[in-house]
Amino acid sequence: MRVAIAGGGLAGLACAKYLVDAGHQPLLFERSDVLGGLVAARKDADGDWVETGLHAFFGAYPNMLQLLDELNISDRLQWKRHALIFNQPEKPGVLSWFDVPDIPAPLNVILSILRNNDMLTWEQKIRFALGLWPAILRGQKYVEAMDKYSLLEWLELQGIDARVNSDIFIAASKALTFINPDEVSATIPLTAMNRFLRERYGSKIAFLDGSPPERLCQPIVDYVNERGGSVQTQSSLKEILLNIDGTVKGFLMTGCNGEPSYTVEADAYVCALSVDAFKLLRPEGWQDLPFFQQLDELEGVPVINVQIWFDCKLPTVDHLLFSRSDLLSVYADMSETCQEYHDPDRSMLELVLAPAQDWIGRSDSDIIEATMAELAKLFPAHLPEPVKVRKTAVVKTPRSVYKATPGRQAFRPDQRTPISNFFLSGSYTMQPYLGSMEGAVLSGKLTAQAIAAHSSAIPPMPSTQTVANAATA
Ligand SMILES: Cc1cc2nc3c(=O)[nH]c(=O)nc-3n(C[C@H](O)[C@H](O)[C@H](O)COP(=O)(O)OP(=O)(O)OC[C@H]3O[C@@H](n4cnc5c(N)ncnc54)[C@H](O)[C@@H]3O)c2cc1C
Repeated sequence: MRVAIAGGGLAGLACAKYLVDAGHQPLLFERSDVLGGLVAARKDADGDWVETGLHAFFGAYPNMLQLLDELNISDRLQWKRHALIFNQPEKPGVLSWFDVPDIPAPLNVILSILRNNDMLTWEQKIRFALGLWPAILRGQKYVEAMDKYSLLEWLELQGIDARVNSDIFIAASKALTFINPDEVSATIPLTAMNRFLRERYGSKIAFLDGSPPERLCQPIVDYVNERGGSVQTQSSLKEILLNIDGTVKGFLMTGCNGEPSYTVEADAYVCALSVDAFKLLRPEGWQDLPFFQQLDELEGVPVINVQIWFDCKLPTVDHLLFSRSDLLSVYADMSETCQEYHDPDRSMLELVLAPAQDWIGRSDSDIIEATMAELAKLFPAHLPEPVKVRKTAVVKTPRSVYKATPGRQAFRPDQRTPISNFFLSGSYTMQPYLGSMEGAVLSGKLTAQAIAAHSSAIPPMPSTQTVANAATA
């Protein structure tokens, strides 16, 4: 079967990969000149990578790890010491380590919490552990049911005091979804905790050894191309064309450099776009279908990625850090954590600014100034004086992953739709790994599986001609 896919983020790419594995022919179209979507990156004038987001991989990403294995590029993940590391704004410059011992789960995570005396008292630790008990016993079903509560409401119900929230959960909430605990659904951090408590290496963190477009997306493109598929950048889906019965007749595509529009016809069609981009393209003929109406309840959350190239080496660790500060979420010194960005003499901090609602409209210089002020608070004795910054980069994403407020789980769509030849993909579609790279890869795989099931039910198109050139009206 020929399958037209719009969107070359990780979901669209994974979908294409698993379609060629199943013997189908994917034709993927990406609007941008770079693949990767939220993991995209571009080189600046000096040849340094400017990324859309700082990306960390977890041991609890089975589908991503399997994909890397299948592409023979597992060695591109640089695994770090098994620990979660937090800044302590109340003790500037001192990091708090939750070292996870190499023993079976959940004992390893429980021991790491019990052994850490920087952030929680014994009473808080015990209350925290008791609060997590239903999630441990009842698993994902319980975790899903907690979607009706915000994280703060759930903590109150469990009798877990505010200190645990400010110490652990603000960091988790901001890192996982770019919003604060009063806004985030309890399902989000509980899902992560549940994975970490069940898998021995679930909370182990890795960084890619270079930029995602080259080191992660390109191998998928090569794999797909070698097996009869195709991947085209600077090709934007302009309109979903319908048959009289509401099924898809074709994708009306447009180039990004003023080329004439053309129609792509295929046996099946996939939109692997962000939910916001898809809503703009939803055909009029589908507006009455509740399946598509539910998407109005989902929208992307703003986030900002900041990179600061210093002229000197900062005292640093080769790991991801959870800042626990108001402005920042997670950050890392990429000159340490990532092989391609390695520099023994100069640090490059990459930081995620979240929640970003109040900052997304501000100037880059305001954002850099605020970030530097926050860093000075976190490391008063460590930042060189005067601070020597070579250059900075700010990438704003006004609508990134879906905003995971309470009640959103009910509106996340399946990859199959009521339209027999049309499918969705993307980390916002229903899968248990939330708005993550793992979620995107799994959604792509589920979409490919749904299409494979659909293919056994319909005869293939008679013509092998997919791209029927047709000037637009
Ligand atoms: C700052 C930041 C940090 C993050 N950190 C992490 C992390 O540490 N760990 C983690 O697991 N996840 C992280 N994520 C989340 C992760 O990046 C996403 O969940 C995942 O990449 C989403 O992939 P996707 O394919 O579903 O969507 P997207 O990446 O949004 O892909 C959609 C694609 O569709 C394309 N498109 C849009 N409109 C059209 C059109 N009309 N025609 C053709 N193409 C179109 C877009 O250009 C894009 O390439 C982070 C995200 C951000 C923004």
